[in-house]
Amino acid sequence: MSFEASLEYAQGQDQVDILFPFRERFLFPQHNDKDVYYFCGNSLGLQPKMVSYLMQKELEDWGKYGVEGHFNAAMPWFSYHHFFSERLARIVGADKDEVCAMNTLTVNLHLLMQSFYRPQNGRYKIIMEAGAFPSDQYAMETQVRMYGYDPHDAIIEIAPRDGAHIIEEEDILAAIKETGNALAVVVIGGVNYYTGQYFDLQKITAAAHAVGAYAGFDLAHAVGNVPLKLHDWKVDFACWCSYKYLNSGPGGVGGVYVHEKYGNDPYFFRLAGWWGNDEKTRFKMQKGFVPQKGAASWQMSNAPVFNMVAHNASLDVFDKAGMKELQDKSRKLTGYLEFLLRQITHLKFEIITPSDPARRGAQISMLFAERGREVFDHLTENGVIADWREPNVIRVAPVPLYNTFEDVYMLYEMMKNFS
Ligand SMILES: *Cc1c(COP(=O)(O)O)cnc(C)c1O
Repeated sequence: MSFEASLEYAQGQDQVDILFPFRERFLFPQHNDKDVYYFCGNSLGLQPKMVSYLMQKELEDWGKYGVEGHFNAAMPWFSYHHFFSERLARIVGADKDEVCAMNTLTVNLHLLMQSFYRPQNGRYKIIMEAGAFPSDQYAMETQVRMYGYDPHDAIIEIAPRDGAHIIEEEDILAAIKETGNALAVVVIGGVNYYTGQYFDLQKITAAAHAVGAYAGFDLAHAVGNVPLKLHDWKVDFACWCSYKYLNSGPGGVGGVYVHEKYGNDPYFFRLAGWWGNDEKTRFKMQKGFVPQKGAASWQMSNAPVFNMVAHNASLDVFDKAGMKELQDKSRKLTGYLEFLLRQITHLKFEIITPSDPARRGAQISMLFAERGREVFDHLTENGVIADWREPNVIRVAPVPLYNTFEDVYMLYEMMKNFS
């Protein structure tokens, strides 16, 4: 791709961008009465304008029907999670029965580990990436402790090589092979939150299966961002949150994927609650859990309907935009940002996100040798919302749904003019 470092070029790209109108569907925080340059969609996505209308509708149905809303509401609460399955399945590349919107991310990770981490006969180790999101580290640490293992022994962390920032995929594959029969499960963040590195989930899954282990992924930074084909890649399980690229609001409902092999096996172990029971007998209040089909059988409680209203609004926007279109624009937009940042020579920083578009999503992380915080404050004063990570990293996420080439250009210009 050949880019140009000019405002005219950036505006020209926006004019021919078929996704440009989607920006209008979101609410932007204001800075000096203007929309901010929002580059934090990887932390908390913007609010779709439809949310308040749909929330009002849902409140009206509660008022109008009371308990009968379970069956009579415009979107009956009894089967609320079904409204998300097809759209989520398209986003993660799965069958609709393999996914379910439920709970929140770390809770789902623990629930899935209850099914996929059942250490026995010397098979008890977990491979994960070093520098994983802390919640995932805590989850794995306590999972192994629950079975009496020492985390230092049971958890194998794969780190970048000396002096590097991203992890060599071959090091993960080699560790899987080497751990062999002792390996229970590989749990890796699909896209690393810090560097933006997108791992090869298919290769990692195949390597885990080759030694008789499971492969599961935390897709917090991958869902709604990078192309996923969980079913075809034979991924065993995955979970994600919806408030990052999926724009479903703070604490928004999470989601799970479980391969149909397990989801359709009623004898495969899962912790149960009434909402995961066969829907035909769910309200019969009988003894004896009968799992419904698919990932939905991992549900425990009745759906948090108000929490899911924003999810509904946001997934509609994704459907209208199309994943292919989003990913095409994303590659171009992040590519443009990288191109521009590489023109800047007077600031000492290094881009630690992979350059290969297939190995990243909508994110660039800049590691500063000096003055990183000053640059960040300068951006903030000029109406940019980006993300600062101690000790010296600025993360920016140009999100294809609502960021523009002009946004990206303006960020560059602010950095270029910083002295
Ligand atoms: C954002 C994020 C979380 C957050 O977990 P919650 O349970 O949703 O609070 C966990 N893991 C990863 C990898 C994340 O990026």
